[in-house]
This record gives sequence, C-alpha cells and structure tokens, in this order.
Amino acid sequence: MHKRIALAAVAVVAAAGLGLALSPTTQFVIGGAMVNLGFRMQDHLEAFDLDHKHPDPKAVYDSVIEHNHLSAGVRQMFPRTPRHPLVAMVVCMDARIDTEELVGDTRKYYYVIRTAGSALADKELDMLELAVANGVETILLTRHTDCAAERVAANPQLRGQYPHLVAAIDQRDAIDKALLARPTIAAKLGAGALTIRHMHIDTTTDAMREVAGSK
Ligand SMILES: [Zn+2]
Repeated sequence: MHKRIALAAVAVVAAAGLGLALSPTTQFVIGGAMVNLGFRMQDHLEAFDLDHKHPDPKAVYDSVIEHNHLSAGVRQMFPRTPRHPLVAMVVCMDARIDTEELVGDTRKYYYVIRTAGSALADKELDMLELAVANGVETILLTRHTDCAAERVAANPQLRGQYPHLVAAIDQRDAIDKALLARPTIAAKLGAGALTIRHMHIDTTTDAMREVAGSK
C-alpha cells in the first residue's frame, strides 16, 4: 500500500513540476487531460475494481476501504486548497453519472446534491438556499436518460412497491418550483445575481443540455 501511495505521489509531483513551466490555460487543459487519462486507465479494470470477480459484501467493503486509504494517503501529502463553490448541481444517484467527469470538476467548484431521481425535499431546499447565501451563483437541476426512479414511477405494477420514491418523483416539478420562492433565492434571482437552469444529461455520452424554456 505505501509503495502505491509513494508512486502516486511521485506522479503528482512530476505533473506539478511540468505545470509550473506552462501557461495557466495550458496547465488547465493538460491537467484535465491527465485526469481523464486516469479515469480511462481505470475504466476497464472490472476484475480488480471493487473485486467484481468474487463479489460478496465483505470483499466490496474491503475494496472501498483500501481505495480510501490509497486516496487519503496521497491527499495527506498534498493538503487541499480551500475553494468556495460557485455552482450547485442536483443529480440523480445513478452510479453511471460521475459529476467530476461530467463537468471536469477536478478542483471542487461544485456543490453536488445526489438523490434518487434528482427529487428534492425541504431539507435540500434549505441546503440550496444556504449555498446561495454563501456565494453560489448558478444552480443546475439535472435529470437524465434511462432513469430507474422515473421508470418505477411510470410503471403501474411498481408504483405500489416503492410508494415513497414514486411520491418524490411525482412532486419533483412542484418542489423545483418552490425553490424559486425561497427568500434568498428569489432576492438573488431578482437582482440578477443567480441563475437556475434545468438540464438533461445523456447517461451514455455525459452530454448535458439545457431543457428548452427552463430559464
Ligand atoms: Zn436516475
């Protein structure tokens, strides 16, 4: 484990050294490409990742802890630069959507709320209002293709089996609308200091487009 942490640290130091000699734009683009390279290298490692070869709950849990030790070991060597997010995204919990990949958020400029079917409840409205009070200027309310929560809500046989999920999906539009009436949010919208957009994500390609007339 220590050997792997040291290897990752050497790679980070080498990349940082390379970046110092380049313009900010070039560093930003190359950095993003390197992050993507890392994701692509790991994409096909199913037999290793989370121990898919021998799936049992204990093996999956052990893999999660091992991955965290590796990641936290590197993080301890390079303390995070504190940043305040400017964007808040509401995204379904679907595992195929990786929000860091979706918007290239390698530097944590985004607050992310993940719920089944992107359905908000009152506590999430509180949280979004707090985020806006603290400086968020853009809220993206996303939904996506091939959503399991939406499929359940649209299936008469399954609706009775998952009543809470179905109720949350049925109330999504009304609750999204209620967000606009929250005092801090309404004031910032009125002052032109905040924009809220409804977005749709293609789960296969990661392409995100604004829903027509959502503004
Ligand atoms: Zn979904």
